[in-house]
Amino acid sequence: MRNTIEISGAGPAGLAAALAVVRSGHKACVYERREDVGKRFHGDFQGLENWTTEIDVLDELASMGIESSFEHTPFYEVTCFSPDGVPREFRSIQPLFYLIRRGSEAGCLDTSLKQQALDAGVEIRFGEKLHRLPSGGIVTQGPRRADAIAAGYLFDTDMADGAYAAISDQLAPKGYAYLLVSSGRGTLASCLFDDFHNERRYLERCVEFFTGKVNVRMNNPRRFGGGGNFSIPRTARKGNILYAGESAGFQDPLFGFGIRWALISGVEAGRALAGGDPARYERIWKRRLRAYHQTAATNRWFYERLGDRGYATALRKYSQENDARTWMKRAYAPSLWKKAWYYAMASRHDKPLLQAHENCDCTWCRCERHMAQTG
Ligand SMILES: Cc1cc2nc3c(=O)[nH]c(=O)nc-3n(C[C@H](O)[C@H](O)[C@H](O)COP(=O)(O)OP(=O)(O)OC[C@H]3O[C@@H](n4cnc5c(N)ncnc54)[C@H](O)[C@@H]3O)c2cc1C
Repeated sequence: MRNTIEISGAGPAGLAAALAVVRSGHKACVYERREDVGKRFHGDFQGLENWTTEIDVLDELASMGIESSFEHTPFYEVTCFSPDGVPREFRSIQPLFYLIRRGSEAGCLDTSLKQQALDAGVEIRFGEKLHRLPSGGIVTQGPRRADAIAAGYLFDTDMADGAYAAISDQLAPKGYAYLLVSSGRGTLASCLFDDFHNERRYLERCVEFFTGKVNVRMNNPRRFGGGGNFSIPRTARKGNILYAGESAGFQDPLFGFGIRWALISGVEAGRALAGGDPARYERIWKRRLRAYHQTAATNRWFYERLGDRGYATALRKYSQENDARTWMKRAYAPSLWKKAWYYAMASRHDKPLLQAHENCDCTWCRCERHMAQTG
């Protein structure tokens, strides 16, 4: 008999899980509290990282049954400005990342996954919030808290395509600023890991910075923002309920790249539940994601201690490497000492940052208040 597996949340994790469920011969019903997919986003550019494994991320997705039918532009080069404003070039012969868009418009990752899911026979119920999963299911409701926030602008532009980052505590405390331009559209943001209260000030500094450095031209600018949650769980399972994507805290704690982990964990949760072996999910995410998370959390521990002088030194050093993808892969590769450091030091940071949001009016807190009022 074909069971219906219920999934709460139609983000990348939930839709990937639903695809895996129907491909395993079961029915999938996804509940999405908003009126469409991608409503957490605004058509902003994001990067699908391609540096944590040797295999190309698009090939990995294909091997999991996810088609790259969303718009994706490979980027082989990023210019990263150090705190003193010096540009450092990072290049690779393979794509460092694929530029994609997030939101409800045609071409976005979210709409492409929705179409793939509908074509495969998944039922999606929009405007329905799921509170309980009495007979089990998969929870993929996105972040439960904000360990980092992004505040930015989307805009139209006549600038040439390009990917830029800037690392400086004056622009994005313990995080980074980014400017992504492709085909006449742009996204500029400050991604902060601290001092959320002052997001507006940092964002305006980022605009000023990129204007001075690359003459950014923003036509029709629209504000956007969001928050991210990354804290590796002890378990991503409660009986027959599996947690995937950001709901489980699966997101790169160093720089906040979560799409790939959301898709991987979604597929594995869907396969395990459809296969009647939820415990398998626990084994698989621990094997595939946990060591990467521990490494990235350790990297973040060191990153937070660098300060502006340390960032400048690190950028100078790493920009001398031949292929940026190769050293990024090395930096993210699980290792025994990083695992040991994680347990000794970095795991202490995997705690709710409630104090950081006390009396806070950042993009995350405003959005939470709005969702609480509107349901
Ligand atoms: C501004 C910003 C920039 C980012 N940039 C990048 C990037 O460049 N690269 C990268 O890899 N990652 C990036 N991320 C992180 C990435 O977007 C997330 O990790 C990813 O979207 C997580 O997918 P998910 O499916 O777990 O959750 P989500 O995408 O958040 O989807 C969860 C869905 O569940 C729905 N939902 C919530 N509660 C309920 C409920 N009770 N019932 C029903 N539905 C519910 C929500 O409406 C939402 O549609 C960025 C995040 C932000 C905010």
